[in-house]
Amino acid sequence: MLIEVKNLSYKFNDFTALENVSFEIEKGDIVAIIGPNGSGKTTLLQNIIGVLSPTTGTITIDGEKPRDVRKKIGYVPQKFEFDRTIPISVHEFMSLEKCGKKGHDEKNIIEALREVGLEDVEEKQLGHLSGGQFQRVMIARALLHEKEILIFDEPSTGIDLVGEKTIYDLIKKINEDRGTTCLIVSHELNIVNKYTKKVVCINKQMVCYGSPEIVITPETLQKLYGSGTGLYHPHNHIH
Ligand code: ADP
Ligand code: MG
Repeated sequence: MLIEVKNLSYKFNDFTALENVSFEIEKGDIVAIIGPNGSGKTTLLQNIIGVLSPTTGTITIDGEKPRDVRKKIGYVPQKFEFDRTIPISVHEFMSLEKCGKKGHDEKNIIEALREVGLEDVEEKQLGHLSGGQFQRVMIARALLHEKEILIFDEPSTGIDLVGEKTIYDLIKKINEDRGTTCLIVSHELNIVNKYTKKVVCINKQMVCYGSPEIVITPETLQKLYGSGTGLYHPHNHIH
């Protein structure tokens, strides 16, 4: 088992954000985490990458504490605060992410941009990219180092349907080509069904965990979002 979350609870002072959450993720899996706003998804991810530490319970990655294996994990945050007026090119932005070995940086940057289909924007200003392109640059940045695990927090928020499909196709391709274990927080249930093998449903507490066809039921959705959400459209496929 690559990632083991056992009886995880997390409190911000007196406020309980996560309570008794347990699940396991195998190497090479692609897993979605779903739940309403404020249900603790980002808090869960931050515990997994070792930025936060469990109040009670444990998380292990390859048997070790997350903060001891941070180098194995790439994180694409929910909101990367960026002032679009800052004059910085895509290439310069990517260069800020150090690659270690001298001389390999330039090649790595081009390869990573090619992998996300953006080699033609290398010299463009970061602030001039579309939302979808910007997010793909963020993914390319995470690809600069060989990571065992990639974590995406709502990667398609604010991006149109075509851009969204591009991003999820890309994540799937990285998962298949590199064997990278991928965790994605998503609101899009259609996407979850189509792209992921397993889904963790949380609402502070664990609601369910398993393959989407089995665990995403009307009852689960009721527990997550209450009634009348209209969130689930099983026939509304993306073409
Ligand atoms: P989600 O990502 O599912 O929308 P979050 O993990 O961001 O939810 O937040 C879970 C809960 O914890 C929310 O009620 C949020 O207001 C609270 N929370 C998040 N960060 C902090 C913080 N730094 N201090 C106090 N409360 C926080
Ligand atoms: Mg969040």
